[in-house]
Parts: sequence; C-alpha cells; structure tokens
Amino acid sequence: MRVLVDAHVHLTDGEYEGMEDIIADMLRRMGIIAVSVSMDIETGRKNLTLAEKHNDVIIPFVGLHPWCVNEKGDGSDYNERLENICSFIHSNIERIKGIGEIGLDRAIVKDEDEFKAQVKVFEKMLSIAERYDKPVSIHSRRAVDDVINILGSYRLKVLLHWFSGSKKQLAMANDKGYYVSYGPVLVYSKEKQVLLSNTTRDLILIETDGPVRYGSCFSNRMAVPSFLVSVAYAVANTLGIDYNSTTSMLLENSMRYLYDA
Ligand SMILES: [Zn+2]
Repeated sequence: MRVLVDAHVHLTDGEYEGMEDIIADMLRRMGIIAVSVSMDIETGRKNLTLAEKHNDVIIPFVGLHPWCVNEKGDGSDYNERLENICSFIHSNIERIKGIGEIGLDRAIVKDEDEFKAQVKVFEKMLSIAERYDKPVSIHSRRAVDDVINILGSYRLKVLLHWFSGSKKQLAMANDKGYYVSYGPVLVYSKEKQVLLSNTTRDLILIETDGPVRYGSCFSNRMAVPSFLVSVAYAVANTLGIDYNSTTSMLLENSMRYLYDA
C-alpha cells in the first residue's frame, strides 16, 4: 500500500477527544503516518502517550506554540512555561521525534513586548532542536520574514507549515532548503495552487492541520485523515503529474525531512 505522511496535525486537540483510537485506526487503514504536534507541556505529555500506544502510525513532536506564550490567566508567566517545557523535552528526548509546533504569530500580539516574548521562546526551541538534531515544525503567520531571519542562525531541518507567504518569501525559504506544507485549502484555492507550482518539488509536504475546519468542498467539517488523500490528489493535478508519482515524491520528501541527518 502507498503511504502518505500528514506532516502537521494536532491529534491531542480537545476536538478529537474520545476519537483517538478511531483516528489511529483510520490512519492505519488509509496508510497514513501522522506527525502529531503539540501546543504546550500538557498536549506534549498526551502526545507522547498517544504516540506510544499507536507507534506504527503516529510520530510525536513537542514544543511551545506562540499562542501559548502570550496567553495570560493561568498564573504563570511565559518564562516559567518555557523552563517547564525545556526540562520536559530534555528528560523525554528519546521519545520525542521533533520540535513543534513552534514559531511566531504577529496576528495575535498586542504590543512589541509580546512579540519579543514569542521570539525568546522560539529561539530557545530552535536551540534545543539543533542540540538534539531534531526536525522543527513552524508556524509563521504574518511573520515569515522574521522566522526566516531567525532561522539563519541555526542548522536545522525546517518545515514552514501551512505556508502563506508571498512568492518571494517562498523562494527565500526554498533557497535555504526549508520544506513547506500545503493543506486542504489547496483543493479549492487558486492562490495556494500558484504557490505550490512555484515550490521546489523536493521540498513539498502535505498536511491536514486537523482539527481545523475547512470550507468549500469540505463543508466546514473538522479535518480527519481522509482529507489528506484529497490534498495529495490536488498536488498531482496542480503539478500535472500522475497520482502514484506524486505520492512517491511526497513520501520521499517526508522521510528526508523526518529522518535524514
Ligand atoms: Zn498547527
């Protein structure tokens, strides 16, 4: 059976609660391997447990998401959260396959101080990834230039997930050898199809980013593994290559991103 890799999905999100075994069974039946990313220490912990139970189909990443840096109200400031996740990563490094979801998001910051906090956390996560030679899964909403600038100081295998930069930013990322991933939006968005056509083929990955809900033909339904097949098919159509060659290319890219030194 042909194997596809969902390069970025949140299997420990509350929306999937109670469905984890069904999702794992779907992955198995459809020949999909899921890279399950975390948001914080709680989802990181859940993720390692889930991936151990289904280690044939789930690859766990752990990291501190920019959305979890600026959030207030849990009594702990981000420095404490950062220290906690770093020690969690150090003590579980053998079980963790990559660092993510990490990154920057200018759309949610209220001031420059909040952005600086995101940068501090992001840099720390990158240095851990570099130290342990782990791939990273990066969120870069409205911050692609900032992310690319910061990444210049590290030697890492990088995925810019849900790539939504310009063609120029895409070229910069591809020049540096960074992977970019496309999700279900590719099925119905001309703009994404144009970006995909401009992407270096060796650097294309696909994802669902579940449990995100998608419009158009997906009728606002929550992403499940089967969506990935539609994304692979959209890649084949957009690039004008047959489905089997497309899935082989995507699998090779995924393995290089995840496992090559
Ligand atoms: Zn995500």
